[in-house]
Formats: sequence, structure tokens, C-alpha cells
Amino acid sequence: MRSAAKQPFSPSFSEARGSWGRFRRWNRFQGHAENDKVMKVLIAGGGIGGLATALSLHAVGIEAEVFEQARELREVGVGINTLPHAVKELATLGLLSGLDRVGIRTSELIYMSRLGQTVWQELRGMDAGYDTPQFSIHRGKLLGLLHQAALERLGSAQIHTDHRLVGFDERADRIVARFERRDGGERIEAAGDALIGADGIHSAVRSAFYPDEGSPIWSGMMGWRGATEWPIYRDGQTMVIAGGNAAKFVFYPIHADPAKPDTRLTNWGIMARIGDGTKPPPRREDWSRPGRLDEVLSLVRDKFRLGFTEPEALIEATETFYEYPNCDRDPLPRWSFGRVTLLGDAAHPMYPNGSNGAGQAILDARRLAAHLTSCTSVAEALAAYDAERRPATAAIVLSNRRGGPEGVIDVVEARAPHGFDDIDKVASYAEREAIVRGYASLAGYAKDQVNTRGGPVRAERQRKGRT
Ligand SMILES: Cc1cc2nc3c(=O)[nH]c(=O)nc-3n(C[C@H](O)[C@H](O)[C@H](O)COP(=O)(O)OP(=O)(O)OC[C@H]3O[C@@H](n4cnc5c(N)ncnc54)[C@H](O)[C@@H]3O)c2cc1C
Repeated sequence: MRSAAKQPFSPSFSEARGSWGRFRRWNRFQGHAENDKVMKVLIAGGGIGGLATALSLHAVGIEAEVFEQARELREVGVGINTLPHAVKELATLGLLSGLDRVGIRTSELIYMSRLGQTVWQELRGMDAGYDTPQFSIHRGKLLGLLHQAALERLGSAQIHTDHRLVGFDERADRIVARFERRDGGERIEAAGDALIGADGIHSAVRSAFYPDEGSPIWSGMMGWRGATEWPIYRDGQTMVIAGGNAAKFVFYPIHADPAKPDTRLTNWGIMARIGDGTKPPPRREDWSRPGRLDEVLSLVRDKFRLGFTEPEALIEATETFYEYPNCDRDPLPRWSFGRVTLLGDAAHPMYPNGSNGAGQAILDARRLAAHLTSCTSVAEALAAYDAERRPATAAIVLSNRRGGPEGVIDVVEARAPHGFDDIDKVASYAEREAIVRGYASLAGYAKDQVNTRGGPVRAERQRKGRT
């Protein structure tokens, strides 16, 4: 892509608006060619990663411009869990009250076998002694929250929809990116100090550096996800995952409507193995591809005996649900090339076990902004970001292939496929703890890792005299 023949493009946004040469004294970037000039970063992709990057850069005084290929930023998807390591970063960006408005603070996590027997149970978020909550939230609402904040802080002129990145060239002192619009077939050029590929699992930026990589790797597991109003389970804030990698049921509430005190908007997910992992997925990964009722019901029937809810009934009560193949890519040897780098799913797409993909994209965004403010050149900053974040996220990608923290369910189901009388005789507490809490440490959300990082939640608690 970088070597693509030059096209007759229209002038860049920035040049047309005259913002490229704007100067501000407070720019903290140390080694920019013109010390007083505001650094400007182009971001391809307006998903959770791209918008978190825009907000993080804005927070440190770096200009950001987002280019999203979709015609509009729609609030698609179903539930995701945002763990305390990422929530702390979002709180630092002033988004905690927004999260409380649209999500639910997760209080507890239960891992069960398919027969409804508890394998692991622990408190979560502030109920577990973290200084920061964990949220169960509609993915679209999280995206909407980031989008609204980006519009308010950066201005709508910096967030472009219907702009698909089709190429980029690195020049001596800047990067020039090219975009195409579906409406009118217009072609546009934009210039900046850096280009961030936050363009998801099918990243055009990634494929420019790795043109032979091909399609994402499919594990053979297909996922179906939906959300519907459902009677409250336990305290209305509890997340349950039942079943190992062969067939998994995920259940957690994502929104409390005050007008419906007895129910919660409840996210459900089914994962089932329908392939052996040697072929590409039957359909492309897409957050808004509707699933088929007959297909998912046939995979659920007679598989789960949970006691607290009936997966078939929950699925049948859901008007629209979506399917998503469980895909990832192999970790890369390098993300950053001069003024260009990768972030979020473009850099490290991972299986959803462990609820970490969006969280890691948010961590990427914050660390990228930190490196850009402390290094002496863009290339050095992107290399430092690569050196820090690439190994950390590669370890999570690989762990998720083995089941992540939910691997504890696989261990127990393999040893006791027909159930157990005493879980400790199947797998000791220490063994189960090592799997679940070992993963938390690996992914950076263990309690001591999160609580030792400062942030507004801690500051607020200390102000109120709590530890
Ligand atoms: C079933 C499932 C469950 C999950 N559950 C969780 C969870 O509980 N917790 C969690 O943290 N994570 C979870 N994740 C992962 C999480 O959703 C992703 O990691 C996260 O959305 C990645 O964000 P992103 O911005 O990097 O990529 P995306 O969300 O894919 O955004 C990329 C954006 O780039 C745009 N784009 C693509 N190509 C171009 C181009 N050429 N030019 C311009 N724009 C372009 C796309 O339209 C899109 O808007 C889950 C994922 C799946 C599949």
C-alpha cells in the first residue's frame, strides 16, 4: 500500500482548513522538528481503540483526527465487560460517570460447568477491593460514550465518517494518508506527524506491512450474542460463564432501566465448536451479522443444566441476535514502522475469553499518548510503544487460545465430565486460582496492579477518607 502509485487527490483536510501550521506553546512533545508546533496524529478507524486514542491524545495536548470508513458511527454489538485496568484509564479521561449512566458495575463472577456446578466464584471490581469498578456494558453504548466525548472535546470537524483509508506514504517530516469516500467516490489526502492503524481485525494498515498475512485465523468456535430484558439473577450485577471451550454460555446484565425494577437488560452469549479450526470462518467477522435461531438452538439444546436460567428460553425471547466467529491473528514481530503503528484489534485481535480486547485497546491508547509526550521523536515514541505493548498483548492472545481464565472450566470439565461432589478433589483451590488470577496478572488487571496505579477514582476515595 505504501508504494501505491500516486493518485490525483484533492488537498488534505488540514491544509484546506489551515490547521497544519497552527502553533501552541503548551505542546509538551519534546523533540518535534518545530518545538512549538502542535503534533498531529491521524487515526484510521473510529472504533473503541481509535476513539480512545483520540481522547488520550487530546488529553495530552496532541491534535488528533479520526477517519472512520462507516457512513455513521452506529452503536452496534451487544455486551462487553470493561475490567478495572481499562476503567481506570477511562476514569482518568473523565468518563466514569458516563459509564455509570449506561453500564452496570459488575459485583461478582461465577464460572460454572455446563451442569451448573460452581468451579470458581469471586467478587469483582470495587466489591473485590479494587479502587476502580468493573463494568458490564453494551458495546455500542461504550462506543457512543467515547464518540460523544470525542465530538465535544475534539470537535466534529476532527471526526470523519465515510473515510476509508486506502493508502499512505511516509515523507521526510510527515505522513500522508489517503482516504476514499463511498458517497461521491471522492478521494482525500490528510497529512500528520503519525498515522495510527486502529482499523480492526481486517486492518488495511496492518496488511500494508504484512501483505501476505491473509485472513484472520478461526478457532472453529462460533459465537452468538444477544440481549433482552430478563428477570434479575442474584444481585442484578453478577456475571456467569458456564461451560468450557466446546460449548459455552455467557450471561450478564448490562443495563438497569429504573422503569423495570424486576428485570435487567441481560447480555447472553453462546459459543460452540462447529469447525476444527483448519478452515476460514463460514462468514466474515462483523458485529452486526444477525444469527439464525434454528442454528443456535440446535447447539444449545440438552447441553446446559444451569438451574438459574434456561438458555433456550433466553435465546427465544431475544428479538435480534448476532453471530461472530471466534477469530484472532498470530502476534506480530513488529507494529511500528517509522511514523506508523497499529493499535487495538489491528495490532492484537484476540479471542473474547477473558474480556480483554477492548480493554487492551484502551490501554494501548493511553500508553501511546504517554510515549508521544515523553520521547524525542515520533519514530522513537512509536518504537517505545511497540516495545512495551506488543509483548504484553501477545501473551494475552496466546493465553486466550488456551481458554484464558475460563480455561479453569475446561480443566474441571475434562476431569469430571459428569459432574463432581467436591470441586477441590477435581482441582485444588491453588490450581484454580493460578489459572484465573494468573491470567489477571498477565493481562494487567490483578488488584495490586490496578490499585497501585493512581487515578481519579483513588483520589476521590481518599478525599472521602476511604482507602
Ligand atoms: C464476541 C466478542 C466478545 C467480546 N467481549 C469483550 C469484552 O467483554 N471485553 C473486552 O474488552 N473486549 C471484548 N471483545 C473485544 C472487543 O470488542 C474488541 O477488541 C474491540 O472492539 C476492538 O476495538 P478496535 O477499535 O481496535 O477495533 P474495531 O472495534 O473493529 O474498530 C475498528 C474500526 O475501524 C474501521 N475501519 C476498518 N477499516 C478501515 C479503513 N480502511 N479506514 C477507516 N476505518 C476503517 C471499522 O469500521 C471500525 O469502526 C469482544 C469481541 C468479541 C468478538
